[in-house]
Amino acid sequence: MRILVTNDDGIFSPGLLALAEVASRFGQVRVVAPDVEQSAMGHAITILRPLQYHRTPLGPFEAYRVNGTPADCVALGLHHWDGADLVLSGVNLGSNLGHDIWHSGTVAAAKQAVLLGVRAAAFSTVLTADGPNFQPLIPYMEQVVRLLLSLPGLCLVNVNLPPNPCGIRWTRQSVRAYSGEVIPGADPMGRPHYWFSARPLTDPEENTDRWAVEHGWISLTPLRLDLTDTGWLERIEPKEILF
Ligand code: MN
Repeated sequence: MRILVTNDDGIFSPGLLALAEVASRFGQVRVVAPDVEQSAMGHAITILRPLQYHRTPLGPFEAYRVNGTPADCVALGLHHWDGADLVLSGVNLGSNLGHDIWHSGTVAAAKQAVLLGVRAAAFSTVLTADGPNFQPLIPYMEQVVRLLLSLPGLCLVNVNLPPNPCGIRWTRQSVRAYSGEVIPGADPMGRPHYWFSARPLTDPEENTDRWAVEHGWISLTPLRLDLTDTGWLERIEPKEILF
């Protein structure tokens, strides 16, 4: 099995190395990842300038760094490897729960793989005060990959790991609102600048991704690319307005 590994924290992130190590237990690994951090770049692709990539030493792995986004890395990586059997993205330094999924470069890399016909999973872990310790998470990640591979029809999964997981739980995406507050400040020259903050407004709903991780579970959320609100589409009448 050929596994393409990428992330959005950049090629030198310790989370990427941990995921590549897990992937190497299942097949041949190639790493293609951004040369600098691309967190919260979402599903951006680079179309106004050319992309380049360079061979990069990364433990025992064949690895390349790209001057592009996570989605670019997946597109380039699959192109130059003539496809792959699986794409794994992460492990992100910080969880990707609820609305994070909209902004996440980690999840976008997995989405890009599915757009190109390759099944994929995004891995993220909670940031703690002393930083994530990936070594103890590796056996859990291996168990998750084994579980995902046992479900061949399942194409896109968002995985979030708490520090000391009590088990694995299938969840749905939390859709609680966040404040989206814009906080003004000033640079050293006195020029105004702004920080965008995303503070949650409500507690997480039971059995969602965020709720599960807060309760110590590894959260597995099956995702789909079709965003259609099927409830509304079925309900709305008439379905055509002819001119
Ligand atoms: Mn990130």
